[in-house]
Amino acid sequence: MDMIRVVSPPHCKKGPARCSGCREAAQTKKICHIHVYTTESEEFRPLIQMEIRGIPGFYEYEIIEVFESPNEAIEYARENSIDDIDLSMGR
Ligand SMILES: [Zn+2]
Repeated sequence: MDMIRVVSPPHCKKGPARCSGCREAAQTKKICHIHVYTTESEEFRPLIQMEIRGIPGFYEYEIIEVFESPNEAIEYARENSIDDIDLSMGR
């Protein structure tokens, strides 16, 4: 599933507890086109908490594109027929 969300792009798979780059990355929120997977995988992927088809949970996602401004994201979403857009910073 493709959507536009405000997320903190992860630095690497070590995580904030072991890597200062990750701690820094966790502070930085960016507007991103993300692809959310509804099935679990063996891959390293960040998790996002949301509700998909009425089922709340943590889902794996991949960052496809990072935007510098909301306008850029909205324009991109229109061009790529992505209608699931949430630009709220609150999570
Ligand atoms: Zn890291």
